[in-house]
This record gives sequence, structure tokens and C-alpha cells, in this order.
Amino acid sequence: MAKAQAPDTSSISRLDQIKISQYFGCNTFSERTMRERLQKDVYKAYRQALKRGEALSPEVARSVALAMKEWALEQGCTHFTHWFLPMTGATAEKHDAFITWDEPGTVIERFSGSQLIQGEPDASSFPSGGLRATFEARGYTAWDPASPAFLMEGPLGKTLCIPTAFVGYHGEALDHKVPLLRSMGVLSERAKDALKHFGVNAEAVVAQCGPEQEYFAVDLDLAQQRPDLMFANRTLQGAKPPKGQELEDHYFGSIKERVLGFMQEVELECFKLGIPAKTRHNEVAPNQFEIAPIYEAANLASDHNQLLMEILKSVGERHSLAILLHEKPFAGVNGSGKHVNWSLATDEGQNLLEPGQTPEENLQFLYFLSATLKAIHTHGGLLRAAIASAGNDHRLGANEAPPAIMSAFLGAQLNHILDAIEKGDAADASTQRILDLGIGNLPRIEKDATDRNRTSPFAFTGNKFEFRAVGSSQPIALPLTVINAAVAEALEGLNAKLDAEIKSGKEHKAAVMAVVRQAIIETKAIRFEGNGYSDEWKQEAERRGLPHAKDTVAALHIWEGAAAKAVFSKAGILSEGELESRLHIRHEQYQKAIAIETQVLRQMAETQILPSITADLGARANSLAKLAAAGVTVPEPLKAALQAQATLAGEAQVRLAAMKEALLAAEAMEDNHARTEAFGNQVNESKHALREVLDRLEEACDADLWPLPKYWQLLSPLL
Ligand code: ADP
Ligand code: MG
Repeated sequence: MAKAQAPDTSSISRLDQIKISQYFGCNTFSERTMRERLQKDVYKAYRQALKRGEALSPEVARSVALAMKEWALEQGCTHFTHWFLPMTGATAEKHDAFITWDEPGTVIERFSGSQLIQGEPDASSFPSGGLRATFEARGYTAWDPASPAFLMEGPLGKTLCIPTAFVGYHGEALDHKVPLLRSMGVLSERAKDALKHFGVNAEAVVAQCGPEQEYFAVDLDLAQQRPDLMFANRTLQGAKPPKGQELEDHYFGSIKERVLGFMQEVELECFKLGIPAKTRHNEVAPNQFEIAPIYEAANLASDHNQLLMEILKSVGERHSLAILLHEKPFAGVNGSGKHVNWSLATDEGQNLLEPGQTPEENLQFLYFLSATLKAIHTHGGLLRAAIASAGNDHRLGANEAPPAIMSAFLGAQLNHILDAIEKGDAADASTQRILDLGIGNLPRIEKDATDRNRTSPFAFTGNKFEFRAVGSSQPIALPLTVINAAVAEALEGLNAKLDAEIKSGKEHKAAVMAVVRQAIIETKAIRFEGNGYSDEWKQEAERRGLPHAKDTVAALHIWEGAAAKAVFSKAGILSEGELESRLHIRHEQYQKAIAIETQVLRQMAETQILPSITADLGARANSLAKLAAAGVTVPEPLKAALQAQATLAGEAQVRLAAMKEALLAAEAMEDNHARTEAFGNQVNESKHALREVLDRLEEACDADLWPLPKYWQLLSPLL
């Protein structure tokens, strides 16, 4: 049979031009393309390495690189770049043209395969947290074969982007991807060890992730009139709008055409790049939206989420929208998170967190569930630390997002089962009886809205955990690395206990139940089904001894604890030096974020807001003087109002001066911790104090004289 004509995907400009399945991934050097272009044995070797999570052999790498190069040139690429995730949290790229001298004065398209697979960018300007002295500027980027190369379309041509890991001269991790890949490797090994006890011989176990991305969209013209939105990605001042999210009429509401057009173009770009964008909807706050992909291997999901954030911003600009990924762009309305859904699957696609159909499968499910609970119990503090940032501090524990205390929600049914196992005498555990209690015929856990807990930071949702406390702008690689590392460590412990139980002569089921039961008992403190937003929970959590790092200042201390060092360095995920460097970078990023906000607020207050208020006061005083001159008695309340406004303006000046002083004092601190504390406490408080009085002044000021677009203007046009 003749091969079907491949559709022309070069000029797709509508979602529905041809079926999505026909153009999905057309801008990537995809599996399908590789299968078509690589020699059979090369393709097989590539697949095999991928499945096992191993590196490509040099010969295979060369052949793949050659095919990639030919494909890229056929697609009209003029440049290529190694695309990577330095610890800035953004993506990095340096483009090189595909040209080299031929004869003097003439160039030809040439570059070697090895250039594609490994690069050597000057690493000196990327944060390394002191890991690498600047004179050791060399860094290496190496292709992650699990993440397909893709085309970036520019106004005048295409660039081939190769997703890479970024390491220093001595192999030290300089990015977010290397530790993620390492953690996936360790987790795979531990999970495979566990599976052997259940008669499953998997070649690999892969952490899966589907990150739900929330964001705000506001009119670009309006956003550009606000230095805070442009430079700090959030409003640093703004009185509450007359109507916010009180009516709850935005969530899942009909999507307005302007936003829908934007979303569709985002999806079109995603599909071409092989990003499986699945769900779009309005979120709770006005102008807030969500996009969620179908889940994938965690490293791919991480690359795709970074790419998605870039796409959202650039497509937004084409639609005259500013896309705000910040965790809290507007005070008084909900902030944005990124729900990181996580599970484990074998290379054959079996989800290890899916309750099974048979008692044996359920036993295996309980084993992996216990390991996850154990991980959260042991490393709740580290999970919390992984998502700490200046932005997320505005959200966590603010009665709209999960608290900064890590707990796990399992739902009534599973809780009942775990309680039964806990109570059940261990001797009985091997018998069908306890399995009959519900495990033996555990019904598929319903994805029932009544069995959801939106207030839990780590919720089991039927066949995966949903880590809901991650911030919307954060790279997901770090929280994923921590989850993987913690679960790998927990599995290692459980596996050792299981081995010991079996060695002591216990029958298999009884041995598993004993291990599971012990884990259930040990981890009870983190199971919480109630309202995570309530004050009672904070008190209860304290009684249970759960760590509660209320902000980044507190959370960063956890990175320095022995538990963090142990879980990362023992498993080879981050050496002590690498961990230390990350700590430095996180301190620095936190301080810088707050310093920038302070400078922007200072400038807005000094050069925009306060001059406008003075002008307003002057105009009003003039009017009153004119009234008096015309013989009209100026009513006392009018004078009093003007006086109150003048007094408030004076107060603003005082608070502005205090904020400037706090900033100077913080910047002068030598010690890193002391500086972080000064920024997190004194500087933040001084900013907050100034904002509070500026917001009151906004409400008093003549709207025509107010120099900035107001909340109601920013938050209404897209509703
Ligand atoms: P919800 O009810 O929370 O919206 P969905 O089934 O729509 O649940 O999934 C939300 C996100 O979770 C999606 O990104 C989805 O791909 C992801 N997801 C679903 N199943 C898994 C899984 N087994 N592992 C990881 N992520 C998953
Ligand atoms: Mg969800």
C-alpha cells in the first residue's frame, strides 16, 4: 500500500485547519520523524536508551545528530541553540548560525553532529552560587534525548532549539534539569526494586507530571502604564475595585472572545511544539485563567511548562495582552498557583498510584501510597522550602491557597482503609479478611467533587498526588526533584524493611502489610482531611509537630538542615556543594525580588503618585479659596476632608522615607541570612505600610489626576 501523503504542516494558522493529531509536534524532531529518518538499529538503540533512562552511546548520538541536522536544514533553520534552564528560573539560549567559512569570502552551511549534542557556552554570567569562580567560565550543555529538539519561529526565520542539561567544568549541576534527571534516575531504581517484590519486572519507572498553569491576562496598553507590572510583575499599589471576585461569577464562566482568540493561538503553538495542551478555563479571580496539559514524563513536563510560560507571554503580546505569571499580581483577589500533579508509571504505562482491580495490585498500590506518605512526612519541610519565593509568600497561607504546612489529603474512602489497616492486628494482615475490609475490592476511587479538598497542599486525587502549593511562576523542576528524591528515599527504607520481614520468615502478603502498616502509623501526623485554611489547623498542626515555615526567610533555613543534605547527597542528586550553591542563589533571588519591588514602589510614589496628590490638593484648595472669595461659606466637612487628605499625604512622605531607609539598611548587611531577614521583615513591612496609605490616598484623589490605571480598569475589560 502506498504511504499516505504527509500533510503540509508548514502553513498552519488555525487550530482546525487539519486535525490536531496530524500536525501535533510538527515543529519538533519527534519520535515519528526519528523513526522515519534513522536507521532501524539506530532508532532501536535510541528507544532503548530512552526507555532505560540511559545516555546515548557516542555512535548513536552522532547518527541522531546527523539526522537532526538534516531535518532542521530542510525545515529552513538558519540557526541552532542549546536551550537550557539556568538557576535564574528562566530559560537561556545562545543562537549560532549554521555557517562556516568555505573559501575566503564564501560560507557554506556546515556544523558537526557533536556540536548539536554538546555545547560549551560561556557560563560565567549565569548564577552558580559560588560553585564556580568566574575565571572557570566554562560550562557544558548536553542534549537530553527525552526532550525533543524543536523549532522556534522568528519573524525572519527558524531556529533549531535543543533542550539540554547544563553542567560546569567538573560536572557540577548549574541548572534545574540535571538534579531533576538525577532524581528521576534514583527514583526509578528504588521503584524497580520495590516492584520486584510484586513480581513486576519493569525496565524503568518514570515520574509523571501534569502541571496546571494559572495566569492573569490584562490589557497590555494599561499594563505598560504601570511600572510595577512591567518591572515587578505585580501591582505594588492599588485600591480594591468596587467589584472583585465576590460574586464568584468568573470561575468556569464563558470565555470572552478576546481571551479565547489568545488561548487558541497559544494552543496552536503548543500543538506544533508537541505540548499536549488539553484544558482551558476561566479561573476564580477576574482576568484569571488556566491552561493544563496532559501529563508526561516529569523532565518533559518541566521543559514544556517552561516553554509554555514563554509562549503565553509572547502570544499575549501579539494579542495586546500582558500575561502575568506572578503568584499575586493583585492584592485582595486570588493569586495564581501551579498545581503539580505527580504520579509514577512503569515503562509499560502502569500507574503505580492507581488502585488496582485485584488484592495483589491493591497491595502494591498501598505500598507506593505509603512510600509517598512517608516521603511527605519525612520531608514536608523540604517540600515547603522547594516552593518558597518572594512571590509565593503572598499566597501560601493567605486563605486562598494551601497553607505553608505540608499535609496530605486522601479522601474519606482511603482514610477509612488506612485506619482499618492501622487498627487491624498485623497477624491478620496476610489474610483475605483485612483485604476484604475494602482493599480486596477497593472500587475505583471516584473523582468525585465531594471528595476534593482544595485546601490541602498535597492531595491524592484518585491516581496521582496534586501538589497544589507550587507558585505560578516557579519552574516545576525543583519541587519535582524534591518529591522524587523524598519518595526514592522512602522506598529505599520500605524496601529494606520488606526484605527484613521476608528474611525473618514472613509470608509475602503479611510482610508487605506489616511494612505498610508501620508506615501508616508513622505518618499519621500529616494526614489531614479538614479545612487547611483554618486557624484551628495551624494550631492542630503545631500540636502534631509538623514544620511550619511561614515564609521564605524561615523556609530557607530548612535547606541547611541535615535532612536536606542527607536526602540529596546520599542519593547523588545534589552534592553538598551544589546544595550550598542553590541556597546562595535562592537567598540572592529573594533579596533581589524585594529590592526591585522597593525601588519600583519608591519611584512610583515619588515621581508619580505623590506629585499627583499634591496637584489634587492644590486644585481643591484653589476651589475652596474661590468659593470663599465668591462669598460662599465653605462647609467645615469640605475643609476637614482636604485636611485629612493633606495629613495622609504627609504620612505617605514619612513612610516613603522609612522604606528608603529600610532598603539601605538591608542592602548594607554583610551576612546573607541577616540580609534575607531584613528584606523579608523590615523592608517588606515598610513597603506594605507605604502601600496602605497610598491606597487610601487613591480613594481620595481626583480620578482624572490619578497617574496609574486602577484595579477596576485593569481587571474589567476581559471579564
Ligand atoms: P482535575 O480534576 O484536577 O482537573 P484532571 O484529570 O483534569 O484533574 O487532571 C489535572 C492535571 O493532572 C492534568 O494536567 C492531567 O494531565 C494531570 N494528570 C492526570 N493524571 C495524571 C497522572 N497519572 N500523573 C500525573 N499527572 C496526571
Ligand atoms: Mg486539578
